[in-house]
Amino acid sequence: PTILAIESSCDDTSAAVLVNGEIRANVVATQQVHEQYGGVVPELASRAHQQHLIPVVEAALQKAGVSRQDLDAVAFTQGPGLLGSLLVGGMFAKTLALALGKPLIAVNHMRAHILAHFIEEPRPAFPFLCLTVSGGHTQLVVVKSALEMEIIGQTIDDAAGEAFDKTAKLLGLPYPGGPHLDKLARTGNPTRFPFPVGAMPGYDFSFSGLKTAVLYFLKKETAQNPDFVPQNLADLCASIQHTIIQTLLRQLRRAAADNGLTQIALAGGVAANSGLRQALQDEAAAQGWQVFIPAFQYCTDNAGMVAKTAEFQYQAGDFATQLISSDPRLKLV
Ligand code: ATP
Ligand code: FE
Repeated sequence: PTILAIESSCDDTSAAVLVNGEIRANVVATQQVHEQYGGVVPELASRAHQQHLIPVVEAALQKAGVSRQDLDAVAFTQGPGLLGSLLVGGMFAKTLALALGKPLIAVNHMRAHILAHFIEEPRPAFPFLCLTVSGGHTQLVVVKSALEMEIIGQTIDDAAGEAFDKTAKLLGLPYPGGPHLDKLARTGNPTRFPFPVGAMPGYDFSFSGLKTAVLYFLKKETAQNPDFVPQNLADLCASIQHTIIQTLLRQLRRAAADNGLTQIALAGGVAANSGLRQALQDEAAAQGWQVFIPAFQYCTDNAGMVAKTAEFQYQAGDFATQLISSDPRLKLV
């Protein structure tokens, strides 16, 4: 099928066109307006989506060489995400589907992060274990098929991306801090400052303790030496990153062993982290895992992954009606 997909769950406006399994266009407009506030401002995000959506959709259709009449379905992210942001993309998709008389497909954003693995080779085979690490979520998911997934572990407080961003903020790095922290960590000593690894029962995660530990540690050290952070920046970044990675790996290792899964997939924006990628490759060599990480453009928010997920739903006959509403807290299963 030929599918136009819209993604607007947070602060990226994206449109993608899929033609018979292939992503022909995946256009993303990132919103710069939030940088000065050190975090996403929901009301500003909604307004920016309104400004970006039509040009982004036009660009995607043009790049793909597809006209509106060629479309077999219009897909959109129903949730989870920011309500105002979701509503802009949702209303647009519903209106377009109605005007064109085409079927509508509602896609779950977290499912789409996982199914991004099916956009390009190599693709994992079912069942596999997916660690989704994004700005708002940290989940361990057993993926039985494209439509059947089970969350076996998740964060009880902050997401892994949030842990990166909040600790980076404490170090005075610009928002979003994850990529900055990653870069600085490359030249630092990861075992110089031991921070606590959030140990949760089962396969759950906890990252709020790390943020608090870093906060109090920095307070104590800067009281004695005001230049403590700039003098030790690389080691601080490396130590924080090391702690987050160890927290993730510990549960991933147990979840894989207990469930007898050796195909391990990484999804979400934090999959871009170079330390995590390396640690996962090392772990794969030690455990005999096969590791899958999508191309960067399909890890962060993008409509390509929404289009791919919509294709699976199209084949299963899973369509939405005009009565569907956006759901900021939509569950994975
Ligand atoms: P969700 O899907 O849960 O709603 P999101 O879509 O906003 O969240 P993503 O776009 O998947 O989140 O990922 C963004 C997060 O990834 C941010 O927290 C960002 O700091 C983090 N991130 C991106 N690159 C890196 C990196 N190299 N190292 C660490 N974190 C990174
Ligand atoms: Fe996302």
